[in-house]
Amino acid sequence: MTLTATPDQLAKYEVVIGLEVHVQLATRTKIFCGCPTSFGAPPNTNVCPVCLGLPGALPVMSKPAVEMAMLGALALNCRINPTSRMARKNYFYPDLPKGYQISQFELPLAEHGYVDVVTANGPKRIGVTRVHMEDDAGKSTHDGFKDSDRFTYVDLNRSGTPLIEIVSEPDMRNADEAYEYMVYVKQAMEFLAVSSCDMEKGHLRCDANVSVRKWGAAEFGTRTETKNLNSFRFLKQAIEFEVSRQVAVVESGGRIVQETRLFNPDLGETFSMRSKEAAHDYRYFPEPDLVPLRISDAWRERLQSTMPELPAQKRARYATEFGLKPYDAEVLTATREIGTYYEKAVAASGDPKTTANWVMGDLLGALKNDGKEITESPVTAEHLGDLVKRIASGELSGKLAKEIFPKMYAEGLAPGVIIERDGLKQISDTGAIDKIIDEVLAANPKQVEQYKGGKTTVIGFLVGQIMKATKGQANPGVVNDLLKAKLG
Ligand code: ADP
Ligand code: MG
Ligand code: ZN
Repeated sequence: MTLTATPDQLAKYEVVIGLEVHVQLATRTKIFCGCPTSFGAPPNTNVCPVCLGLPGALPVMSKPAVEMAMLGALALNCRINPTSRMARKNYFYPDLPKGYQISQFELPLAEHGYVDVVTANGPKRIGVTRVHMEDDAGKSTHDGFKDSDRFTYVDLNRSGTPLIEIVSEPDMRNADEAYEYMVYVKQAMEFLAVSSCDMEKGHLRCDANVSVRKWGAAEFGTRTETKNLNSFRFLKQAIEFEVSRQVAVVESGGRIVQETRLFNPDLGETFSMRSKEAAHDYRYFPEPDLVPLRISDAWRERLQSTMPELPAQKRARYATEFGLKPYDAEVLTATREIGTYYEKAVAASGDPKTTANWVMGDLLGALKNDGKEITESPVTAEHLGDLVKRIASGELSGKLAKEIFPKMYAEGLAPGVIIERDGLKQISDTGAIDKIIDEVLAANPKQVEQYKGGKTTVIGFLVGQIMKATKGQANPGVVNDLLKAKLG
């Protein structure tokens, strides 16, 4: 039976969270050999003596991996160390054929960074302790239930895939802050294209260190570490569960033991996996097969100059340049591709706000229905911009545009082509509208009477009839003006 805390008990404690995030780098080849990193190959085919850990095989550091790691670290506002070194972290595991992981210990690639996030309680800065590089292990798949019928399969295709580990300071105080931190990391790595960040494939996974202490206590409480959280929802659930469990344990007179835990998504609970090992258990020592990594100012500056605009900068620019509200700016910068699409559409429309509404509403809605990414949109940014431009210029009513857009989406055609083909032009010619108004007024004498008797709301009915008679194509402004003039 797991204990959970009452709200009164929870209120007595401050929560402390630090995250370790593993990001799989999107290099074509592995970190120390030329084997491909592609996903889904038959087991144990993307392997060579180096990533199989065969005796005598020597690793060679991948330059693209270093550069992606540097970009990632720079996006987290870290200082890149001019010299860093790889270190052996020794432990046995069947999917770790070398018997050690090549990671970094005393001299990591980068340190002293931070991430700024905004939560419901306002802005918050979260420190990034370090970013280091390491190789991934292979993958074990456990099968069977009875002892006599239990197998573990080892696939070493993933062995030697480059990772960065991002270690935060214990600066987060609730699950929402941890969530926002993780969102920042994911978006930044995606914008930089240093990782696909596909959480389902484990390209982005997170260990949550959680402790609690009485408000005002000088020292942190003992932490537990819940490993390999591979979704935002699990991260939040695991933290909330741990907080409740830890408070309940302490409140009932128990002690928290430092340990490694796992999260069970079916139960929404964490459970103990093993007691926590300390750094000295791993017998870290400098990797003798690799020279220290030296990063010159020129190299770092060159990479810095290729840094694309990051989500937070883009959001700020959308607010000042396009006058967008924070929520809209957030939606339109959710991925780099959405931002690119939006900016192209604005260039074509000249109307940032209406374009924002169309991208966020009709376009993203239709794509979501279809399970499509914006890069697969049948409506190009230029075509959407063209449509919005026609609304802004008064050529199309919003209603007509709503009729044209689904056709653009279904057929991939420019709005002009559909307008011509289907005769969907807005009628602004007063002569033509005049004639229709006369017909509608003649057909509805009762409503005209009511209007003249002071019940001016019937004008809505009359406008409706006129729009219906023109199949929605009459310019509503012109209709209103003419109608009012006629009714006196
Ligand atoms: P390890 O590899 O042993 O987990 P690291 O230094 O890599 O150690 O990571 C420790 C993580 O735990 C960091 O993210 C740090 O902020 C966090 N942390 C340290 N102490 C606490 C604590 N008392 N409560 C919550 N998080 C903590
Ligand atoms: Mg750890
Ligand atoms: Zn290899």
